[in-house]
Amino acid sequence: MRYEPCPKSRQDVEGHMLRWGPLGEGCFRCAVDFVLARFGGDPNCKCRAKDGPFCETCIERADEWNDYDSPIDDFLLADSPHNSLARYFSAILGNLEATLDYGMFFPNSDQGKAADCLLEAAQSDPFAFDIARQWASDCLRAGHEMPESLKHWAAQLLSGEISRPRAKGKNPVALMRRNAAIRELVRVTSALVGIPPTSADEESGASACHAVAEALRLLRLQPDSYASVKRIWTSRKDAAPDLPSYLFGGVVSR
Ligand SMILES: [Zn+2]
Ligand SMILES: [Zn+2]
Repeated sequence: MRYEPCPKSRQDVEGHMLRWGPLGEGCFRCAVDFVLARFGGDPNCKCRAKDGPFCETCIERADEWNDYDSPIDDFLLADSPHNSLARYFSAILGNLEATLDYGMFFPNSDQGKAADCLLEAAQSDPFAFDIARQWASDCLRAGHEMPESLKHWAAQLLSGEISRPRAKGKNPVALMRRNAAIRELVRVTSALVGIPPTSADEESGASACHAVAEALRLLRLQPDSYASVKRIWTSRKDAAPDLPSYLFGGVVSR
């Protein structure tokens, strides 16, 4: 499956392409190389021969190019199970000390209200359920007090009186970051390589959406079809989904 970069993209010149853009103006293969360079992941790496996470070498390479903010994490977070996302929100709602690798942090002032709102949602929403379970387990492990309603819920969970609701559809919170990363890739690829974002020729067009889809296919990431990438790109106006209010401790209504 050996992948050969375009001779014009000069990917071998360290950092050049990321800093100045590819040299092959308007070249589709350079556009694919550019998207691959943004990720840092190497399509020829052994870890890319099968589906699944990137190897440490690929992740390190992506981190080295962290100035350019590799979108790898956004793609890994979009995969279920969403344990790290659940951990993230439980830390926010529980206001626990946690290492957050994320840019945003909402301090929570009313844990009781946050727990009530979360637990109500947890009856039907599996993601809310996961957050509540994570929150309760963090409190137990650290010996922290938890809100009364959460304590009650955790006891019911341990005794088997309640169980995780079934998932319906994709987790919109998990997809939000990945889709934002895809839109950014299409935007910069189109601008720096000088190719249009989309093309009327879905099969063999040479647009930025095609280049992103092709790079994702080489990296064995989803989505890897032009149609899916284009759908995400064209839905950019309503990029922010209606996030459930339990994520904001039930304080902010959206
Ligand atoms: Zn080229
Ligand atoms: Zn690898």
